Amino acid sequence: MKRVYNFSAGPAVLPEAVLSEAANEMVCYKDSGMSVMEMSHRSSSFQAIIDEATADLKELLNVPDNYKILFLQGGASMQFNMVPFNLMKNKKVDLIQTGQWTKKATKEAAILGDVKILASSEDKTFSYIPDCSDLPIREDADYVYICENNTIYGTKYHELPNTKGKDLVADLSSCILSEPIDVSRYGVIFAGAQKNVGPAGVTIVIIREDLVREDLAFDVPTMLRYKTHVDAKSLFNTPPCYAIYICGKVFKKLKAEGGLAKRKEINEQKANMLYDYLDNSEMFRSTVEPGSRSLMNIPFVIGDEALEKKFIAEATARGLVNLKGHRTVGGMRASIYNAMPVEGVAALVDFMKEFEAKEKKNV
Ligand SMILES: *Cc1c(COP(=O)(O)O)cnc(C)c1O
Repeated sequence: MKRVYNFSAGPAVLPEAVLSEAANEMVCYKDSGMSVMEMSHRSSSFQAIIDEATADLKELLNVPDNYKILFLQGGASMQFNMVPFNLMKNKKVDLIQTGQWTKKATKEAAILGDVKILASSEDKTFSYIPDCSDLPIREDADYVYICENNTIYGTKYHELPNTKGKDLVADLSSCILSEPIDVSRYGVIFAGAQKNVGPAGVTIVIIREDLVREDLAFDVPTMLRYKTHVDAKSLFNTPPCYAIYICGKVFKKLKAEGGLAKRKEINEQKANMLYDYLDNSEMFRSTVEPGSRSLMNIPFVIGDEALEKKFIAEATARGLVNLKGHRTVGGMRASIYNAMPVEGVAALVDFMKEFEAKEKKNV
């Protein structure tokens, strides 16, 4: 069967070349005589895989030496717990409310301390990123928390908040590796791999060394302490070996293709193709303010539910799949992560044009 263009928000499309390479190594990895899935996580073969993945990720993101890179389990959602457990001192978090993922983070942080919402875009169904140049950050806040790319609503920070000296903690699940970032501006970055990197099951955490604390404000279980995983170099217990192996292949591919500056160029080209069409169409429109638009997740609507249903069904029949919008937003959403080829976005835009012309004639 022919591969489709998969616009899923996550788990999402992976580079076909990576999947083929993995398929070739599935039964026998290099000279190990076994699959990566069957390998001891203490073996030299696996140690080489995780060491290389770490080094390549460090190079791609230009991670400074005073940051630790971890491959953990539990998804981005477990970071909603690990971050407050490990970073709270005064038990105060200041947060910018930009959608469902920050709401979930708020709920978890509020179990342990006091969460102040510094700004919110809920008044306009999270269709923009609030002005974060002069926020009422508390003197004794432990950190400032954001979700940098809002997977569901399709908004993205194009400028990081002015945290007034407080550490910034950011959920980059749906935008990590989509463009270069300045890691030194963050205290902690985390990202579930299944959006823009690799398979579900592994979560990337990048944490500044001084935030890896021994003395915590709570009695924190061993597995939920960053220090446990930093000390054991992500091998405290069995890591998600196969997922890390696939991520490593994706890192190698990104490097070979010219790194994140080149990635950004291609991602902008793809997103602009779609936004340009949406801004000029008489049928479809973007739901996001121009200054806050994501390069990765692009929601759009027709405003007529029956027509939207028809669009999604006809697109699916053409091999343009998973375009249905999030259940809380409705309409459509195209997630066009790194692994979505330019041709996939072009095929989507061509189909939208065709659909618009056809339906206009029907009126
Ligand atoms: C998908 C997603 C999550 C949740 O990730 P899990 O790995 O399923 O826990 C959190 N934050 C953002 C921004 C996401 O897109």
